[in-house]
Formats: sequence, structure tokens, C-alpha cells
Amino acid sequence: MKLSQLLAKDTLSLSFEVFPPKADTAFDSVKKATEEIASLRPAFVSVTYGAGGGTSRYTLDIAKNIKENFGVSTLAHLTCVSSTRETVRQQIEDIKAAGIQNIMALRGDIPKEMQEQNRSSWDYRYAIDLIRELKESDFCIGGACYPEVHPESRNQKEDIRHLKEKALAGLDFLTTQMFFDNNLFYNFLYKIREAGITLPILPGIMPITVGTQVKRAVELSGSFVPQRFKALVDKFGDDPGAMKQAGIAYATDQIIDLFANGIRNVHVYSMNKPDVAAAIMANLSDILNK
Ligand SMILES: Cc1cc2nc3c(=O)[nH]c(=O)nc-3n(C[C@H](O)[C@H](O)[C@H](O)COP(=O)(O)OP(=O)(O)OC[C@H]3O[C@@H](n4cnc5c(N)ncnc54)[C@H](O)[C@@H]3O)c2cc1C
Repeated sequence: MKLSQLLAKDTLSLSFEVFPPKADTAFDSVKKATEEIASLRPAFVSVTYGAGGGTSRYTLDIAKNIKENFGVSTLAHLTCVSSTRETVRQQIEDIKAAGIQNIMALRGDIPKEMQEQNRSSWDYRYAIDLIRELKESDFCIGGACYPEVHPESRNQKEDIRHLKEKALAGLDFLTTQMFFDNNLFYNFLYKIREAGITLPILPGIMPITVGTQVKRAVELSGSFVPQRFKALVDKFGDDPGAMKQAGIAYATDQIIDLFANGIRNVHVYSMNKPDVAAAIMANLSDILNK
């Protein structure tokens, strides 16, 4: 099913994100974890894309398995900046052949070895180049956005101007980078609506269930960590069981607040952890589908 149809429904829902294995040897264990997550019957499962590596084909294998064997809609991520036009065209054909109707169209991070290159020679410079190409086929297309501003942007105004161009190029919905303070999301939402971006938007929530995960998540995303969350990691970070409970409770609280403030679809960065995904679903059992 196209996610645009799903997002038009007047019900509350959760979707989960999984990532493919980085090494061939991990394929079976990752596949099993993603199957357990699909069994929870989220609105959809998105599968990230690791550009360049020999395992990028696994995005499709996992998305196809979930869709065909669990009847859950899938969203295949695709990045373009480090790929040739030929490779991307082949990927698009493969996604089409797998019967997947939804693509998260991303630029991807610029690899170190490309950073000094003359960008005018690249086949893809921004996600918008990929979106324009995808528009030639009949996909439902998602795009990324950044409540705390993309690290390469000079300021939020510039970032939102580029986001609007990306939206107008043919996006059907947006998913945000993770954030730990909902007020940052509400401010961002206000600004993009004011700028005339009317697309459905899925806030992305990352449950932090291991103390050491915070540092890495913040390094990757640049997200602000509120004092309330820091206190929780200080107190429980060295106790795996307690940290897991506290992290799940914090993420659940963020999701409930988003639902209470009019958001219908929340995307959870469940990181191949079926137990975490299940606990969040259980916490919201009477709230979902209202
Ligand atoms: C929901 C989500 C899912 C993700 N999934 C993956 C994944 O599966 N695999 C992966 O490798 N990475 C993933 N990422 C990370 C993403 O690839 C990086 O954040 C990347 O640096 C930017 O990708 P983008 O699609 O947002 O780029 P773009 O939309 O192209 O934006 C990148 C930067 O360029 C600026 N910009 C855009 N257009 C122009 C223009 N015309 N002129 C000047 N500047 C411009 C933007 O303001 C921004 O600063 C994901 C991110 C999010 C939020």
C-alpha cells in the first residue's frame, strides 16, 4: 500500500525503522529481528540504506520479506550522492520489481573522499535530484527533514527554503530526524507550515535504552539532549535493565505528548530491537487506533 493512503487515515499509528546488516554473516539474525518487529503490525516498516557497501542490496531483501510474508507495508530508503545515475536507475528498477511502492528519497552523507571534489561533476548533489527522477515512476516518496537544522545548513531559514523546494519537487510526506525535546518539533512544525509546506509529517522518536547509545546518537544527529533526559542517563545509565525501562518510558512519554497535540503518525527508530518496539506498542495499546 502507498503510505500516502495510510497517512490520510484519521487514526493514530506507529511505524518502525529497521536497518539491514553491515556484514553478510549477520543477515539471518537481522532478518529475524525485523520479522519480529513486523509481527507487531505497525503501520509500516522502513528499511534504511547503507550506501556503497556490498550489503546495500539487503535493504530490498528485508523490505520485500516483510511486505510479502507479513503483509506490512514497507518503505525502502535510497541514497544518491555517492552513486552514479546508472546505479540509482538500477536500484529504482529493482525496487519496482520487488513491488515496493514507497521510497524514502535521501541524499546521504557525503563520504570523506568526496568532500574535496568538484560537486558539479556529481550525478546527484541533493535529494531533490533523486526526487525528480523518482517522479517519473509511480512511487509514494518520503523526504527527510531536520527540526534542529541539517548540520550543513547555515541557518534554519535556509534549510526550510531548501525543504520547500524538495517538497514541491514531488514529496508525499516528511519524516524528521530524531529529537528528544518535543518543543523543538512543535516550533519546527509551526515554521514549515508558515513557509507553506503542507505535507504530512512523521516525527521520528529514538528510544535510548543503553546509556552509551546517547553519545553516539547525539554525535550522529546533533540532537539537543534536555536536562530531564540527561538526569535519567546519569541515574540509570550503568544499570542495563533500569536504563532500558527508563528509555522506553521517556520515548513513550514523547509519543503520547505528540498524539495529544494532534500528530497522528509517529515513526520510531526501533534499531532492530523487537523487545523495545513491543514494549512501546504495549504501553500505547489503548491509545493506538483511536
Ligand atoms: C528520516 C531520515 C532517514 C534517513 N535514512 C538514511 C538512510 O537510510 N541511509 C543514509 O545513508 N542516511 C540516511 N539519513 C541521513 C541523511 O542521508 C543525511 O542527513 C544527509 O546528510 C542529508 O540527506 P537529505 O536527504 O536530508 O539531503 P538534502 O535534502 O539534499 O539536504 C542536505 C543539505 O543540503 C541543503 N540543500 C538542499 N538543497 C540545496 C540546494 N539546492 N542548494 C544548497 N543547499 C541545499 C539542505 O538544506 C541540507 O543542509 C536519514 C535521515 C533522516 C532524517
